[in-house]
Amino acid sequence: MINIILLGPPGAGKGTQAHRLVAERNMIQLSTGDMLREARTSGTAMGKMVADVMDRGDLVTDEIVIGLIDEKLQGDNGGGFIFDGFPRTLAQADALGALLKRSGRKLDAVIEMQVDDAALVARISGRFTCGDCGEVYHDDTKPTAKPGTCDKCGSSDLKRRADDNADSLKVRLMEYYKKTSPLIGYYYAKGDLHTVDGLAEIDTVAKSIANVLDQVRTS
Ligand code: AMP
Repeated sequence: MINIILLGPPGAGKGTQAHRLVAERNMIQLSTGDMLREARTSGTAMGKMVADVMDRGDLVTDEIVIGLIDEKLQGDNGGGFIFDGFPRTLAQADALGALLKRSGRKLDAVIEMQVDDAALVARISGRFTCGDCGEVYHDDTKPTAKPGTCDKCGSSDLKRRADDNADSLKVRLMEYYKKTSPLIGYYYAKGDLHTVDGLAEIDTVAKSIANVLDQVRTS
């Protein structure tokens, strides 16, 4: 069992790679972004509280996302956890360390997906996902084979995120550089950091991640 963090700015490809790891290694994806979107869709009080913050591109409070992760860590861990979009602040990183320790688990690797900002804008502005299975598509680089239908599960519920627009992206990028990028140094200092080229083809990125996982499994 391997527990990893996928670290990178919005549009780096964390979700895409997490889905592959779930399918190929039976790992469990813990995406705080997905959990928050679910809370919004189901109309919970917390979902209503975070809606505006998310649409603007700001971060929701540490307390809320730490609580969400805490809950999930009590459940089954399958082939290990993939933390996707969490932690995003140093306080969240400290909290994750404590939660893992408390449940007798450890973090095996932090995989930083490096991309440049110009690529992020292009990736995010064409992005859409399947509302049923979560598969991620792109207008130019990964369209569905049949327009309006998910290749993977056949659903016609294809969606664009409310925060995938130029204004929110600016805020999300700024939040990343101000609050999340310090985690690169934090995990480097702990000896957990591995860096992959997130601009490569999806299969190539997947191979680089697989290499890291093989490396930490045998170490
Ligand atoms: P994501 O799907 O990871 O891009 O997250 C979408 C939005 O959810 C972010 O822009 C934040 O508003 C919120 N969010 C997701 N994860 C976190 C987190 N770990 N800390 C704070 N806010 C988060």
